[in-house]
Amino acid sequence: MMSARGRFGKGGIPRRSANELREMRAAGRVVAEMHAAIRSAARPGVTTAALDRVGRDVLERRGADSNFFGYHGFPGVICASVNDEVIHGIPGSRVLADGDLLSIDCGAIVNGWHGDAAFTMGIGSISPEAQRLIDTADAALAAAIREMRPRRHLGDVGAAVEAVVTAAGYGNPRHYCGHGIGRAMHEDPDVENRGKPGRGHELLAGMVLAIEPMLLGGGSDDVFELDDGWTIATADGSLAAHVEHTVLVGPNGPEILTQL
Ligand code: MG
Ligand code: MG
Repeated sequence: MMSARGRFGKGGIPRRSANELREMRAAGRVVAEMHAAIRSAARPGVTTAALDRVGRDVLERRGADSNFFGYHGFPGVICASVNDEVIHGIPGSRVLADGDLLSIDCGAIVNGWHGDAAFTMGIGSISPEAQRLIDTADAALAAAIREMRPRRHLGDVGAAVEAVVTAAGYGNPRHYCGHGIGRAMHEDPDVENRGKPGRGHELLAGMVLAIEPMLLGGGSDDVFELDDGWTIATADGSLAAHVEHTVLVGPNGPEILTQL
């Protein structure tokens, strides 16, 4: 789930204790298991509702709660956004087809602590352009994660995303962003996908952020909301990718919490 930009004030970023991080790692692990199960279930002929069921099954098996279901009334435990849909697609009767680009975003709560992550994958065989979009999204996220070190700044994280997206010629929507995460899915601060190196909050060991680049294949930054009141799609109908990890600033470098 993305946060709408400007939602938060100037609050600091809490540094989590060892016990709190243990809970956040457990929540992140459940999210990673949801990703793995959904990845292997996603193929031509499968509905996005069926993938939501796969996510639910993992949550139930692990005794975890969903932070997506019921969020402002959201009806699924996953967001499933296909092709020109960027984020917040509602899982339902849509049948995935060969060549589709699928973005899945989901989260979990364990003992009150949250994890949140997203990935984009091809369904069946996809075009080279679609593959380049996925690869660039993954590269943008990886570049941002590399900045999650003590003494770096929030602006370094955003600048890292922006540099990769801009160099590839893709659009970078302005009104959605990553976020702090902990006892709530969306906490201070906003984690924007653009920024100035060395600016913004200083990062210190124990801080946890959800970083989530969105890339628009047509090169325009413009998106719009569909009539369902949730789905955000590219204005020009081009393909979109959305990837996300919940990441800890460790004493010696980044630790991805939503990865097995
Ligand atoms: Mg998310
Ligand atoms: Mg998020």
